Amino acid sequence: MKKQLRIVICGGGNAVHVLVPVIKETSGAWVGVLAPYSDEAARISSGASENGITVEYNEREVTARPDMVTSLAEEVIPEADIVLFALPAFAHGPMIGLVAPFLKKGAWLGAMPSRSGFEFYAQSTHVRDKEIVLFGLQTLPWACRIIEYGKRVTVLGEKNSVTVGACPAGKAPEVALTLQELIGIRLKPAGSMLSISLGNVGQIIHPGIMYGLFKEEEETTYHEENVPLFYQGISKETAGMLGHMSQEIVNVAKYLSKKCSSLQLQDVISLQDWILQSYEGKIADTSTLFSCFVTNQAYAGLQAPTIKVGGKCRANLRSRYLTEDVPFGLVVTKGIAGMCGLPTPTIDQVLATTSRWMDAEYYIDGKAVGRDIGKTRHPVNFGITKLEQLFPRAT
Ligand code: NAD
Repeated sequence: MKKQLRIVICGGGNAVHVLVPVIKETSGAWVGVLAPYSDEAARISSGASENGITVEYNEREVTARPDMVTSLAEEVIPEADIVLFALPAFAHGPMIGLVAPFLKKGAWLGAMPSRSGFEFYAQSTHVRDKEIVLFGLQTLPWACRIIEYGKRVTVLGEKNSVTVGACPAGKAPEVALTLQELIGIRLKPAGSMLSISLGNVGQIIHPGIMYGLFKEEEETTYHEENVPLFYQGISKETAGMLGHMSQEIVNVAKYLSKKCSSLQLQDVISLQDWILQSYEGKIADTSTLFSCFVTNQAYAGLQAPTIKVGGKCRANLRSRYLTEDVPFGLVVTKGIAGMCGLPTPTIDQVLATTSRWMDAEYYIDGKAVGRDIGKTRHPVNFGITKLEQLFPRAT
């Protein structure tokens, strides 16, 4: 008989609410929740105590109760076969600090989504010494929102398939197959975790569109119904800029592939190819990157993130589209491009403005020496300053 897997999901937000019932229903695995943030463990326990957590998706409902909910890593991590972070990237570091000392040897530790640079944790002491398999999904398979905390969540959209990378790279097919059996969504193994880092399209789309929509419009206020559409509100000029950002990243992948023949980076594809793959059948006009955004049915109606100011709406320049996708996306990619000696002029332009908006300082005169660089996953924070140091983690 196959051993029942013990999965621990870390976090307490939208994704965790989906994962508990989906994994229980799809696989029957033992599912624990580690929610150390604020009073979330108590709130999930109390919300789910009656009927469990219900997820509304694919025109049906699935309800299940987590097998354990705790705020203490030592209560749940030591027995875990798979530890899954369903958290914004800025919470990964603190969460690794909490769980790593309690991981059993050979456990799998991954993030959904991993954003960029998750593989660099492979070198943290506990992870390295315990032969932990790290993995990361390129995106969250669902767009989802909690309806009632601890009780009910809705899935607004589901991806057809998601790419997953692992470190060591050769573990990706096994990880993809195992996770696929847990969540019931097709997972494609990536050639390396570095390809997930560079191929993180959130780093292009989110800061790039924020820049395109709000550069020199920072103070503009809108009536709620007039807030610009995020994806479908882009201009041709912004689409062109996103294309340049994408090309700069593809150039890095091409350079690295030439430098190290065993490095698998074929998953780092252009933004337009990624949209075409991810939203097949949902785009009315696939001819240009611009038309892929503005005629993509999956993007319909989604507005830009704003804050309320005196009854009107203004761009939210501290939105997660920036606080997650700049320090755990563009800054990492620029760091890798820098090690290759490759220029990233469009990414630099977006970085300069979005950093100013967040009152963050990452780069000074093109050098990663700003006061906030330590809060990012720039490779230098993991002692990686040369390409040779990058390859052992990536192959
Ligand atoms: P969420 O905002 O619902 O979850 C946030 C959770 O993270 C909190 O509940 C808390 O448990 C934890 N957290 C936040 N700040 C923390 C901190 N400083 N320290 C420790 N823990 C902290 O997030 P989500 O919507 O579940 O998204 C999870 C990830 O998936 C994010 O990377 C997000 O960008 C990505 N994503 C989400 C969606 C979606 O539709 N929800 C879609 C695509 C990608």
